[in-house]
Amino acid sequence: MKDSIVVTQGLTKRYGAHAAVDDVSMSVAAGEIYGFLGPNGAGKTTTLRMLVGLIRPSAGTATVAGHAPGDPAVVRRIGVLIEGPGFYPYLSGRDNLRVLAKYRRLGAGDVEDALDRVGLADRADDRFRTYSLGMKQRLGVGAALLGRPDLLILDEPTNGLDPQGMAEMRELITALAADGHTVLLSSHMLSEVQEICDRVGVISRGKLLVESTVAELRGAASLFLRAEPIELAFPAVRAVVGERTAMLTASGIRIEAGEGTAPAVARAVVAAGADLLELRIDEKSLQEVFFEMTQLEVTT
Ligand code: ATP
Repeated sequence: MKDSIVVTQGLTKRYGAHAAVDDVSMSVAAGEIYGFLGPNGAGKTTTLRMLVGLIRPSAGTATVAGHAPGDPAVVRRIGVLIEGPGFYPYLSGRDNLRVLAKYRRLGAGDVEDALDRVGLADRADDRFRTYSLGMKQRLGVGAALLGRPDLLILDEPTNGLDPQGMAEMRELITALAADGHTVLLSSHMLSEVQEICDRVGVISRGKLLVESTVAELRGAASLFLRAEPIELAFPAVRAVVGERTAMLTASGIRIEAGEGTAPAVARAVVAAGADLLELRIDEKSLQEVFFEMTQLEVTT
């Protein structure tokens, strides 16, 4: 794996007897989009707050860009959007970023660069309060982008957005990663981020359940087939893939094999004299995997 930009070992945060984050060991590789996923209250924000030095761990360690969280050497290298940006409603988007840039000793050029990259250059002189939620979130990302940090830590950047706003946010995050930023984002909307994440860490009740690529997490795909008459199709399919690999379900035939088997299955069904009505690759959504893993109701 490429160099890790974030590494935690046994990271833990207790509030009284309750462990909001419990022994989390995760790593984010430089250049990737890492999705930190879990239902509400799982411990995502608490973890991210520890990574940026806003709160101290009760136990364990975290290293961000080679330093301890909050180390002045690293603060400039990370851009953060946690728990909604605090912008002034009566200032324009541009002036809001100027305030932040001044505080961080950055120049007007940095502000224009950030506005441009989040697609707000045209609306930069409008007051913040007139912005749509999507624009507000993008300005938040713009604030995180000031000074072009290596690592962006975005807490629930798609939260509350409509489908169009979400699509724009996904596009923006993908573009930022293509531009060389590492992105660590959290979400409880698994279906909304699974397409853009290189890897994900799934957290539930403070514990990291798994860390892997989206493909690994979903496991091998299966095939689903509908054909008529099923009496002809089913034995033909079984002859190709083996008895245990094909199962008859209420709506068709499920085949626990990869897409490589699809052409042979299709040929066998047709050769047996059945009509092939449907043959598709059935990948589990991350939502389903997550649900199986946590047995918790999560928002879709
Ligand atoms: P959400 O998506 O709702 O923000 P989350 O995964 O970010 O969820 P956290 O905000 O990290 O979850 O909260 C994890 C747990 O820690 C929750 O049970 C929360 O109530 C608890 N918690 C967080 N901060 C504190 C605090 N300052 N004092 C006491 N408990 C806290």
